Amino acid sequence: MVQINVSQVKEVVSNLVIKANYYASSDIKECIANSAKTDKHAMARMVSQIIVENYNVAAINQQPICQDTGMAVFFVNIGQEVHIAGGGLTDAINEGVSEGYTRGYMRASVVKDPVDRKNTGDNTPAVIHYNIVPGDKLEIIAAPKGFGSENMSMLRMLTPSLGLQGIEDFIVEVVRTAGSNSCPPVVVGVGVGGTMEKAAIMAKQSLLRPIGSTHEDAAWKEVEKRVLERINALGIGPGGRGGDLTAMGVHITAYPTHIGGMPVCVDLGCHVTRYSKATLDGETVNYESRAISPNPDEVAPPVAGKKLTLPLNEADIADLKAGDIVLLNGPVYTMRDAGHKRLIEMIERGEELPFDFEGQIVYYAGPCPAKPGQVIGSVGPTTAGRMDKFSPALIENGLKLMLGKGERSEEVRQSIIKHKGVFFVAIGGVAAYMARCVKAVDLVAFEDLGTEAIRCLTVEDLPAIVAIDKDGNKAE
Ligand code: SF4
Repeated sequence: MVQINVSQVKEVVSNLVIKANYYASSDIKECIANSAKTDKHAMARMVSQIIVENYNVAAINQQPICQDTGMAVFFVNIGQEVHIAGGGLTDAINEGVSEGYTRGYMRASVVKDPVDRKNTGDNTPAVIHYNIVPGDKLEIIAAPKGFGSENMSMLRMLTPSLGLQGIEDFIVEVVRTAGSNSCPPVVVGVGVGGTMEKAAIMAKQSLLRPIGSTHEDAAWKEVEKRVLERINALGIGPGGRGGDLTAMGVHITAYPTHIGGMPVCVDLGCHVTRYSKATLDGETVNYESRAISPNPDEVAPPVAGKKLTLPLNEADIADLKAGDIVLLNGPVYTMRDAGHKRLIEMIERGEELPFDFEGQIVYYAGPCPAKPGQVIGSVGPTTAGRMDKFSPALIENGLKLMLGKGERSEEVRQSIIKHKGVFFVAIGGVAAYMARCVKAVDLVAFEDLGTEAIRCLTVEDLPAIVAIDKDGNKAE
């Protein structure tokens, strides 16, 4: 019997969550670097170059690739000959998560209760999947999961008569529906069969496979290839701005199921699909590395865009057309779901708002904590669609400019037309790259909301695209 102490587990987990969040996987980077060179669309090449530069910046500066450092998900394979000593394994993993997320200046993104939504402050608890396996080793795989892509994942209980065609159509439908919200290019993890929860776990586990790997079964290998071709023909492209690369891989895991059903779960992994692994044998710790070797010379060309100085006046806004690339300069105000909710409550109570909306832009973002010497931690855009419920009321009250990622509802588009506003998008997930554009940070309101507080960032040449202009035209 091999004995492994929980103190070692805690230390390993702490290291794993930092490695997974700072270092992109080399297989993913290689795939996107290829798109940066070969995509037929100039915009796709530009976005892919920025994604690759972001991987390098994060690894060199030792900071998170994306501001959403995810919910900490683990697959733990426990050898039957292993004895865990000194305490509980689950407690040790959670202590390691707490230590790693704090030491690594990573964002606390977990709320204790799904309804009350009070942040736990240290990204605990983790989601842990245990497997008992033969042998005398303990394998821990960390796969922290961001929720831009997790929110777009889906499970459907198909009827068996829909057959393979039904499975393939559903996978493509999930990716099409997700559009730019899931920060493509994506990895598509699919679980087919089992029960409802088995399909979901298989889908998550499928995301662990490296890009370029194929299914060992010839028939499923063909399905993966065929579905990948269909997805890439959608033309969603890197960052959702169009292009040849929408998905890097389709990874399917199948399992026996009931005569009466055919569960299918599709779990989307964004271009920051994270992975780190360690194997413990009671004496040594072996870290498996897929991590990139950062290259400081691999930089994207400067973004050529129209320079805008904030706040904007009516003439500036009238001049902007859907599809324009812009470089934002001046103050931008970060706000997420919780900040929106509070502002709406203040409006309902007739209270004065914490800042004047006139000509200002709200940036849907929640940064990572700044390390000593940094102005701000990683800070990229979050999914704008989550603010759709709140935006029309804020637009009614004078807000004209918004910056985020993903799509807006028709109601928000109509509000934009009515009040002559603009919705900009930035590339999701390039948060270390974007943090360099931030020159100063001031807290404006709601400090108790942590990362969701309203902050005023002074930015220099922050790249963005006009996604909806004042007439409601949408960028391609
Ligand atoms: S890349 Fe996009 S989906 Fe992935 S963690 Fe970051 S914001 Fe979320």
